[in-house]
Amino acid sequence: MLLTPRTTASGPKALRPPRVAAALITATVSAALLAASAPSPATPLGIGDRLFPHLGNPGYDVQSYDIAFTYRGDNRKPLDAVTKIEAKATEALDRVNLDFAHGKVRSVDMDGRRARFESSGEDLVVTPTAPVRRDDRLRITVRHTSDPVYAKGTQGGWVRTDDGLAMANQADAAHLVFPCNDHPADKAAFTFRVTTPKGYTAVANGLPAGATRRGATTTWAYRHHHPMATELAQVSIGRSTVLHREGPHGLPVRDVVPTADRKVLEPWLNKTPAQLGWMEKKVGRYPFEVYGVLIAQAKTGYELETQTLSLFERELFTRPEFPEWYVDSIMVHELAHQWFGDSVSPKSWSDLWLNEGHATWYEALYAEEKAHKPVADRMRQAYRQSDSWRAAGGPPARPKAPAPGKKISIFRPVVYDGSALVLYALRQEIGRPAFEHLERNWARVHHDGNAETADFVRLASRVAGRDLTAFFDGWLYGKKTPPMPGHPEWKSGK
Ligand SMILES: [Zn+2]
Repeated sequence: MLLTPRTTASGPKALRPPRVAAALITATVSAALLAASAPSPATPLGIGDRLFPHLGNPGYDVQSYDIAFTYRGDNRKPLDAVTKIEAKATEALDRVNLDFAHGKVRSVDMDGRRARFESSGEDLVVTPTAPVRRDDRLRITVRHTSDPVYAKGTQGGWVRTDDGLAMANQADAAHLVFPCNDHPADKAAFTFRVTTPKGYTAVANGLPAGATRRGATTTWAYRHHHPMATELAQVSIGRSTVLHREGPHGLPVRDVVPTADRKVLEPWLNKTPAQLGWMEKKVGRYPFEVYGVLIAQAKTGYELETQTLSLFERELFTRPEFPEWYVDSIMVHELAHQWFGDSVSPKSWSDLWLNEGHATWYEALYAEEKAHKPVADRMRQAYRQSDSWRAAGGPPARPKAPAPGKKISIFRPVVYDGSALVLYALRQEIGRPAFEHLERNWARVHHDGNAETADFVRLASRVAGRDLTAFFDGWLYGKKTPPMPGHPEWKSGK
């Protein structure tokens, strides 16, 4: 999720307005691309996501990315990059479409041989050096630049911080950073190798896999073995300090903060192990090998659940108007996403409510248990607004398409509190023990995978011991909010 619902001291009603994304950049065809382009037309392809028809590509399944960035100390200059992709063909292919729309492509190799490529829409279309048959292994190496400067108003991709760069690719911006199959349905293993000048530290998803000094530069390698969606990639480059502590049952907790802020941020960082313990009690073991927060000196206006290393803007922790309970609950929101959204990823972007509804649910539950902010109060407020949220954004599981040029506009109130409300209704309907059982089961059954709304309905029905299809039809697809079980007096409307 890109836009965390930002409450103020007055409570969850006062949402911080989302920053408006202006026209998304269109692919620029570089001179290099033109020179190398094939005469026959290439077309941008997608996997048919209802909300983002051109995201992802058919015909192959990426197994791993190995991405090398060279940063030269200026966050306005393009980084040199080499992206190596290993994939398996799921059908015979004349061309291999990758998503990539911001940066110059210098060369593409397939299986060690130079391949032809051209740009089409937001796709990089590669002509294989030999025919690709079903089940073939594809090894693609793209040499390219990765440009951290975007057209005005563009959101996502590299985030320029005061001392370097961080990454925020949700929902559809990974392909502004590196060539990829940019859809959460195709998760893969990731290795990052980031070369920085002296004085900088690079950190990425997963655990360190060595650092090599060569003259005045250091190359930092990180590897994450759990499958990850491209939108959840994180690379932090800055004058950072990496802090280590221990979570439940020895889980490494690793935070990345601007060195100058280490002292002032420490009391917040120190909260993570207990928050991990709290989440584990609710939904079971933390799903990855490491967790931590990355605090960036940048004006993002959002926090983001990048896998194993959630991105937060510094001001969340330093502005006096945010009460402690509120900041805690936002930390838990991003932490909860590691189970809901990261380990269990959506099959399509219409399933976004499963990410945000759950993250908002645990955010609210934490505030209830730790700060005496009753969930029922927040849900009554959400119920009041629910019909208007549905009118504005569509029902939770069938959100309206993003406005042209505003792809992040799918992050609307209906997928946050509007969808936590669905979970509250479900708990009212099937009772607390069954609900809690379902939540643990969901995280366990679908870990490291993808799941969709129908999977949730099916599992909930199984756990409840009765068919909940009709219940969910109203709550997930209805134009109007159904009556709240146990609270017939609740009303929705202005
Ligand atoms: Zn979220």
